Amino acid sequence: MKKLIIASNNKHKIEEIKSMLCGMPFQIRSLKEENIDIDVIEDGTTFEENSKKKASEIVGFLKNKGEKSFIVLSDDSGLEVDYLNGEPGIYSARYSGEHGNDRENNIKLLKKMCNVPFEKRGACFVCHISLIDDNGEYIGIRGEARGKILEELPDEDGFGYDPIFYYEPLGKTFAELAGKEKNEISHRGVALKELKDKIAKFI
Ligand code: IMP
Repeated sequence: MKKLIIASNNKHKIEEIKSMLCGMPFQIRSLKEENIDIDVIEDGTTFEENSKKKASEIVGFLKNKGEKSFIVLSDDSGLEVDYLNGEPGIYSARYSGEHGNDRENNIKLLKKMCNVPFEKRGACFVCHISLIDDNGEYIGIRGEARGKILEELPDEDGFGYDPIFYYEPLGKTFAELAGKEKNEISHRGVALKELKDKIAKFI
């Protein structure tokens, strides 16, 4: 079976992607499982640029190693808050300075949104998925999910901005949704669903 390598070290993303692609005819592996230790510098100006860069650098690395018959999937994602003109956007993971400090990122965002009324607290999660195979074939897909930013940080933890992202149709934050429920409606879920329809040419 062809290997599909997820170009990420984020355990939440890997878990969600693996769960959504479960049952597809690929051997789905993370960078860690493949012993690939590459930190791609995300210096693009859009989710699409960063996502493409992550996938193509891993493709280049694997080709240099002489690997054949593989696909690399990358995900660049983040939160765009209406009131903040799209902040934190591509800087979502490192909004508070330190990469991947979810709690501090949430605290910074809530401070910036202090006293903003609920109806103006709209936000959009964005995910750009890139798929590149060993022949350089590329598919890019964008997924979005809209919600509202809560006014306070709840006690329970969760991935990234999930604890403060309130999804109105279900009356819950993304952190309160079961994995399957989140995958049904999330930005990543929407992009991966579309990807599953287009992935046949890579099998
Ligand atoms: P990336 O790894 O550069 O794509 O950064 C993604 C960042 O966006 C994460 O570290 C989170 O802060 C945020 N993010 C992306 N997707 C989600 C999600 O599904 N839930 C919560 N936060 C997310």
